[in-house]
Amino acid sequence: MKTFRRGIHPREFKELSKDQAIQALPAPPQVVLPMSQHLGVPCVPTVKKGDAVRKGQVVGEPDPSNPRRFVSAPVHASISGKVVAVEPRPTPLAPSVLCVVVENDGQDAWLDGLPAETDPATLDANSIKARIQAAGIVGMGGAGFPTHVKISPPPEKPIDTLILNAAECEPFLTCDYRLMLERTAEVVEGLLILGKALAVKNVLVGIEANKPDALAALSKAAEGRGVRVEMCKVKYPQGAEKQLIYALTRRVVPAGGLPLEVGVVVQNVATALAVREAVCLGKPLIERVVTVTGDGVGQPSNFLVRLGTPFRALLEAARMHPGVRKVVAGGPMMGIAVGNLDVPVVKGTSGLLVLQEAEMPDWRACISCGRCVDACPMGLMPNEISIACEAKNLEAAAAANLMDCFECGCCTYVCPAKRPIVHWVKWAKAEAAKKKAQQPKQKAG
Ligand code: SF4
Ligand code: SF4
Repeated sequence: MKTFRRGIHPREFKELSKDQAIQALPAPPQVVLPMSQHLGVPCVPTVKKGDAVRKGQVVGEPDPSNPRRFVSAPVHASISGKVVAVEPRPTPLAPSVLCVVVENDGQDAWLDGLPAETDPATLDANSIKARIQAAGIVGMGGAGFPTHVKISPPPEKPIDTLILNAAECEPFLTCDYRLMLERTAEVVEGLLILGKALAVKNVLVGIEANKPDALAALSKAAEGRGVRVEMCKVKYPQGAEKQLIYALTRRVVPAGGLPLEVGVVVQNVATALAVREAVCLGKPLIERVVTVTGDGVGQPSNFLVRLGTPFRALLEAARMHPGVRKVVAGGPMMGIAVGNLDVPVVKGTSGLLVLQEAEMPDWRACISCGRCVDACPMGLMPNEISIACEAKNLEAAAAANLMDCFECGCCTYVCPAKRPIVHWVKWAKAEAAKKKAQQPKQKAG
C-alpha cells in the first residue's frame, strides 16, 4: 500500500462523527467576514457601514494598490443584510483582523448577475481560472493558499500531475469524508475541472484505507474518466502535501520547495467541491462543512455553515457540555487552541475539537531517546530543534532546519519527556519572521 517514510499512528476518533450526515445550520443573525483568511495579500473592504449587501456580493477585494494582489482571494457576503461594522475583530488566525460585519435581514437573497450555470466543457483553462479567482476559493484543508494561484504555475515549472488529497489524516475530522460520500460526483467533477485548467496528464486521488466506502464511491464516480484512485496506508501525516506526493509518485519535493518543483499540484476535497460550484453554478465561496466533535459535545456533527458564523453557534448546535476545558480549531495534531468562542468560521476552518480535559503536561529535559527522530516525516532532528528553541538560540534552530518543519506534531506526540516541540517551533518561526521584518529598517536607518 502507498505510504511515506516515518510518521505515527495516533488513535483516530473518527467514529464519533463519521456517520453524521452533513446538516445545514441556519444562517446566523450576524456574520463576521475577515479581510484576511487566506495566505497572501489581505483584502480591503468594498462596502461601508450602513450598506445593504446581498449573498454572494464581494465585500472585500485584494488591495488594488498592492503589486502582489494576484496572491489573494476576494471575500463575499455569506448572507444578505446590512453592514453594521467595518472594524478589527479577533479571528481564529489572529487576535485582530479588519472584518466586515453583516446583520442578517432574513431574506437570504442572492446577488443578481452572478455567473449563470455553465457546462465546464465550454470553458477554456483561463476562463476556469478566472471563475475560481472571482469566487474567492482558497485551499480549504487549512492552508488557505489561493487556488487560482496554485493552478497558474510559471511556464518554467510545468505540471503533469494533479492529486486530490482525500487522506483527511487528522484524527477526529470527518468533513471531507462526508463530502466524499454525499457529494461524490461533484467532488470528482471539481477535480476534473482542475485537471482541465492545469492540462495535466495524471489525475490521482490519494485516500487512506480507513475510508473504504468513500474509496469505492470515488472509484465508481471516477471510472473511465482518466482518474487513478490510490489507497494509502493509514498513517499520520499521510495528507501532508509532501508526504502524499511521495506516497503516490515517489517524487521528493526539495527542502524549502513547493510541490510544483516536482510537477505536482495537490488540492483538497472541499476545495474541489467549491471549484465545481464556482465553475458550473457561478457560486462564490460562502459556506463550508465543519466537523464539530470531541468528548466535550453531546452531538458530534458535520455542519454546513455560512462563512462568518461564530464558533459558538456551531458549538451550541452540537450541544457543548458546560465547563469544557479546550476548543481547538482544526484537529488535535495541527489545530490551534481558541480562547474566544465568538471568532468566525473562515475558509480554512475544517473542524472544532472540543475536549473536556485540557492536557497540561509537565515537560522535562530531553532524554535523547530518538523517538522524535524516528517519527519526523521530514527527516529532521526535532530533539536538536527543541533544545535550540528552549535555549532561545535561533541560529542553532535554523541550522537544525527549523524552517523545514511543517508543525505536524509527530515529535510532540511521541516524546516521552512531553516536550512542547511544536509550540517552540512556532515561537522560533515567529521570532525569525520578526527579525527578518526588522532587517531592511535597520539597514535604512
Ligand atoms: S513537527 Fe516538525 S520537527 Fe516535529 S515531526 Fe513534524 S516536521 Fe518533524
Ligand atoms: S522524543 Fe523527546 S526526549 Fe526523546 S529525543 Fe526527542 S525530544 Fe528528546
